[in-house]
Amino acid sequence: MKKGNEMHVCVYCASSDDVPALYIEAAYTFGEGLARRGWPLVYGGGSIGLMGTVARAVHTSGGRVIGVIPQTLLEREVGYREADELIVTGTLRERKQIMDDRANAFAALPGGFGTLEELLEIMTLRMLGYHTKPIVIVNVGGYFDPLLAQFERIFAQNFAHERYRRLYAVKADPDSALEYLEHFALGAEIRG
Ligand code: AMP
Repeated sequence: MKKGNEMHVCVYCASSDDVPALYIEAAYTFGEGLARRGWPLVYGGGSIGLMGTVARAVHTSGGRVIGVIPQTLLEREVGYREADELIVTGTLRERKQIMDDRANAFAALPGGFGTLEELLEIMTLRMLGYHTKPIVIVNVGGYFDPLLAQFERIFAQNFAHERYRRLYAVKADPDSALEYLEHFALGAEIRG
């Protein structure tokens, strides 16, 4: 990543609204932090759940929102139509490819199966050398602790080499996650 690059951060997070308030607050703080830094949000284009919260926070703080949504989800009227750019794709796979291409960093906030699937896929792609973009897990309230414990088991029993710990960073809150990504915006290289 070259010095002075604008960060386009792809955010994976819950489509559910019915989650504890601390996660909704964290999603809002993350969106505000993106906008404050002038970093566009790239995300799944939904208006619901933490996804909608992040997008609205970015907009409220004067930032830019790029949503990438498959036609079927848009038709179910959950698309965030206020997005500055709403890219409508034919399939879920096309959508993921565009999200990957448009972003130069990835952040996972608390979420369900969709979020986990997106996080694990982007980690696997980095492990296999398809990209070298930073990935940060925003471990609000320790939400991801059981997943991180599973990662430890993966390393301990040699299902993945210890060096793959460097595939991702874990930060306890939105501000530390954004500060971590700032490091890359300033031109630091990912090692390992
Ligand atoms: P989940 O964690 O299961 O709620 O899934 C959320 C993730 O999957 C998001 O990061 C989105 O990219 C995608 N996703 C799931 N549901 C939707 C939806 N209704 N609209 C847009 N994207 C969605």
